[in-house]
Amino acid sequence: MDPKLSIVIPLYNEADSVEALYAELTAALADAGCSYEVIVVDDGSRDDSFARLKAVYERDGRWRIIRFRRNFGQTAGFAAGFAAARGEIVITSDADLQNDPRDIPKLLAKMAEGYDIVSGWRVNRKEPFLSRRLPSMIANWLISGVSGVMLHDYGCSLKAYRSEVVKSIHLYGELHRFIPALASWMGVSVAEVPVNDRARQFGASKYGISRTFRVLLDLITVRFMLGYATRPIHVFGSLGLASGALGLLVGLYLTFVKLVLGESIGSRPLLLLAVLLVLLGVQMVSMGLLAEMVMRVYHEAQQKPIYVIREQLDD
Ligand code: UDP
Ligand code: MG
Repeated sequence: MDPKLSIVIPLYNEADSVEALYAELTAALADAGCSYEVIVVDDGSRDDSFARLKAVYERDGRWRIIRFRRNFGQTAGFAAGFAAARGEIVITSDADLQNDPRDIPKLLAKMAEGYDIVSGWRVNRKEPFLSRRLPSMIANWLISGVSGVMLHDYGCSLKAYRSEVVKSIHLYGELHRFIPALASWMGVSVAEVPVNDRARQFGASKYGISRTFRVLLDLITVRFMLGYATRPIHVFGSLGLASGALGLLVGLYLTFVKLVLGESIGSRPLLLLAVLLVLLGVQMVSMGLLAEMVMRVYHEAQQKPIYVIREQLDD
């Protein structure tokens, strides 16, 4: 029989945390009182992590270990875990003990109220302000604005999802932090619960400040995917039409100057601008058309519908 819960945990070089993680999760899940599986994705660890995970696996049949051939990144870890998950509810967490498994019952209680996603919100974050909390505050604010899903803590890994939510999302790059935003596309109800944040006990963080810039770039992708992925010609086409029309106006004015006023226009910067705007317009419109073709290939290749049905009453 399938378990009710699937806990998905990407893990990279966290050997020293494995035993403590096992003990804490087992205790917390006993309190939650429902059937579960724990799927740990070993993301190509080069330390002793896999051996320690294997030891846990041999002891406890509820643990499942997926081992990547090399380090593919945390997002890939989540994706592999989601594909393997059999539970109705999928809970994600970090492996480094910064998330507190004792918060899981709180997430479940909120899910029981009928939400599709319940996000942890680290109210007492332990990390340094300038390098971690400030970038994260800005990112949360931007992602909330762009996606319309208001969350205080997109970066918190401890989150609960209805399984169909994570199964319907295709993750790329480092998009795991955007799952609630991406899921907003299918129409989801989202809630937040405060969770405990703890300082890292073992090992070191795998990320530096450069993550902030990658998050900003990813934000552009997400905005586009959410708003325009099925109608790219509307973005590129509008820009192209505006640019082309402006170029045409400037060109007409220059023609008037040349033909009616009889002045020379060969040395005027405006001429360059007119040519540039018209060219840009043509380019933008053709880019939109190409994007339309790519979008159709994308949707049809994976038989990805442009809608999601909640339920259907028809007999
Ligand atoms: N992680 C992973 N693959 C990676 C980097 C990180 O599976 O390439 C895991 C890591 O083991 C941890 C979680 O992702 O369980 C979060 O990483 P980390 O603690 O380094 O990030 P931070 O908490 O500093 O943001
Ligand atoms: Mg961490």
